[in-house]
Amino acid sequence: MATNERRTAAAVSRTPEAEGALKELFISEMKDIYWAELHLVKALPKMVDSATAIELKHVINNHLTQTKNHVIRLERAFESIGEKAEAVKCEAMAGLLKEAEQLVDETKKGTEVRDVAIISAAQKVEHYEIATYGTLKSIAATLGFTDAETIFSATLEEEKGADAMLSLVAENCINEGALLE
Ligand code: ZN
Ligand code: FE
Ligand code: FE
Repeated sequence: MATNERRTAAAVSRTPEAEGALKELFISEMKDIYWAELHLVKALPKMVDSATAIELKHVINNHLTQTKNHVIRLERAFESIGEKAEAVKCEAMAGLLKEAEQLVDETKKGTEVRDVAIISAAQKVEHYEIATYGTLKSIAATLGFTDAETIFSATLEEEKGADAMLSLVAENCINEGALLE
């Protein structure tokens, strides 16, 4: 390709309209995940109660503490771009949490199979959050919202960490036991 034809991302000029539309998308994704995080603060304690393995209770409880902080971070991110924090229903998270309840209902109390179901549901939630914060972080960078970028990067790492801890608990403490039941 000739040099003059090469188009790097930086060389693509952004129109003010496109920038406005991207900012709008950014804010709407923030409102969506804000709703999701607020609901997770209510849903995670129920998952802790439903879980049996102490390791699993511990991991989810730790993530509950982090999740409360994700709510606060989002409020700071809204503030950093001069927007009011507002939650708009996240249909995806509502669906994931509904499925989580169904999975618990379909398994027997006090079994490791129920713990496997809880881990599965919790990891689906984390993966949704990882996708969202990954997007938010990169849009923040594109728009030059450096404070928001730092905030979303920190939360993204915690969501990834929670996902990894859930895998670890499943592999070390639970999956084998579920087979023996
Ligand atoms: Zn979170
Ligand atoms: Fe959503
Ligand atoms: Fe999370």
